[in-house]
Amino acid sequence: MKEIINVAIDGPAGAGKSTVARAAAKALGYIYVDTGALYRAVGLNALRAGIQTDDADAVTATLGSIRVELKFENGEQLVLLNGENVSSEIRTPDASMAASNVSAIPAVRAFLFDLQRNIAAENDCIMDGRDIGTVVLPDAQVKIFLTASPEIRAKRRYDELIEKGQQVDFKDVLDDLIKRDYNDSHREVAPLRPADDGVIVDTSELTLEESINKVIEVIGEKTA
Ligand code: C5P
Repeated sequence: MKEIINVAIDGPAGAGKSTVARAAAKALGYIYVDTGALYRAVGLNALRAGIQTDDADAVTATLGSIRVELKFENGEQLVLLNGENVSSEIRTPDASMAASNVSAIPAVRAFLFDLQRNIAAENDCIMDGRDIGTVVLPDAQVKIFLTASPEIRAKRRYDELIEKGQQVDFKDVLDDLIKRDYNDSHREVAPLRPADDGVIVDTSELTLEESINKVIEVIGEKTA
């Protein structure tokens, strides 16, 4: 049987992980799995229930009655919360901060662990997140840590939100990003850090196309 190829791409918010991973997956014929969407769905559920997203006990109590699923349609990932497609609703700045808060709760990480592992066990995939190479798929054949300076990441995120028609202020986007970086890299469980055997790709000086090509090149080298 052909070996299943797993590629882990981790890195801070706004480094271009999702765009780069999606394009590389398409070029290689792998599925692209955006694990941030799972944390966003759990965060959105808490927001909708009027729960403080950093209240570990209250958020943990919601886990017994929610169903989070990923579906793949024409290579595109959809995230379902109790059967409802929330793929767009999870993209707001509020949902971003909610995701960052709930992701620090150990029970939330445990709740989403098997779902991620099962997809990777069955599919050639590029999975992006914060702890994919370090915790979720420590045996992935390829581990990449994609990063860029905070200002450049904030500018990219800002442009993306404006393009989607959202009213945002650059300073707010930068402040949110710095706060999320801090949360993500200082939490006790699965903090954001490069895997020991990961390849660091800094995209600050790279165009999107160069970043995609660099990632495809690293995957090619590691899977040759
Ligand atoms: O990647 P994205 O920005 O959509 O992720 C939203 C939040 O989910 C991140 O700020 C991070 O706190 C959390 N996350 C995580 N582990 C992952 C993916 C995302 O903790 N594997």
